[in-house]
Order: sequence, then structure tokens, then C-alpha cells
Amino acid sequence: MHIEAAVFGPFATNCYFVWEDPKQALLIDAGFLPGAIERKAKDLSLEICAILITHGHGDHIVGAETLREALHCPLYYPEGDLFLATGNFYGERYEVPQPSRTLRGGEVLELGGMQIEVLHVPGHSPGHVAYRIGDDLFSGDCLFRRGIGRFDLEGSDEMQLYATLRSLLALGDGVRVHPGHGPGTTIGEERRENPFLQI
Ligand SMILES: [Zn+2]
Repeated sequence: MHIEAAVFGPFATNCYFVWEDPKQALLIDAGFLPGAIERKAKDLSLEICAILITHGHGDHIVGAETLREALHCPLYYPEGDLFLATGNFYGERYEVPQPSRTLRGGEVLELGGMQIEVLHVPGHSPGHVAYRIGDDLFSGDCLFRRGIGRFDLEGSDEMQLYATLRSLLALGDGVRVHPGHGPGTTIGEERRENPFLQI
């Protein structure tokens, strides 16, 4: 499996291209500049077969609806974050993405020749999901390298976030984490080094 991160927008949001077959790549999150995301896919010779959204904050979905229309591909979106999915983000108006399917966690998706396990990881936002493909976890804004997600936003919940973090630690030290912002890490590294996880 191949993973390529692309960083867009003022919050340096990571979008991830993930593929086994370049004609059926996944895009995980779609922050800002849909044109730039399309160009990056072209540079990598990828055709995107599905857009997977981790949570409904503007910096992860600004480009989602435009891309969904341009690429004619299904969009997966967390049900519990539907209420967040509209507004203005740094002056950029974004539309509610029209999900082909909403997710609650517990689903297993078969896309692009890959099996994707959907985990409900609330706390940063109520509907937040993470996508696990083998030992790779696309964690959105729950867990960062040496940090954790904010819990002071609309619908955030600190206790839920800590319960989520405990459940992520239980996935095992070998799991590689690809967060919504900043560099990648592993569960083992964060268990040892992350000051917020000494819980
Ligand atoms: Zn967020």
C-alpha cells in the first residue's frame, strides 16, 4: 500500500492519498484548494475512487464538495458531524458535502482493493471517525505527534477525547499514525513520549 501526504491551507491540514492500485486511490480529507488536490493526484498519476472525511471541521472539508463533483466519486462522511458541515472558513465559504454514505464507526469498507475499518473516535468532534487500513491509522485530529486534538470547540468533549485516546493506545504499539496535522508517528512512540497520554 502507498501513502502520500499533501499539506494544504493555513492550518497545514494533511490530506492523504492512499492506494494499492493507482486507478483506485482514496483521498482522506480535503482541506482547501480542490484544484491543488486534483493537480497533486495528476502528478502522482492517481485516479481517486473515493473521498473519506475524518470529521466536519472546515480545514478538512473545504474542498470536499467541489472535488466530489469534479471527480464523480463517492464521499464518506461521519454522521455525527453533519451538523458542523457548513459555514465560512477564513473567508472561504464551503458547502455541505453531500455524502454518498454516512459513517458511525464499526463499518468495514471495501474500496480500491483495500479493506478499511471505520473507528468512531469522538472528543475533538462528536462524529469524528478514524480509518484503519492494516497497521496504518488515519486519525484526523484526535492524536498528533506529541499532542492531542483540541476539545474547546463546538461539540468537543474532553472526557470523550481521553476515552478515544485510550482506545487508540489499545490498537497496539506497531500501528502507524497519520494525523490530520503535522508529521506521522506510531502508537508505541506516542505511548512513551506524548505528555498527554500519560493517563
Ligand atoms: Zn478538527
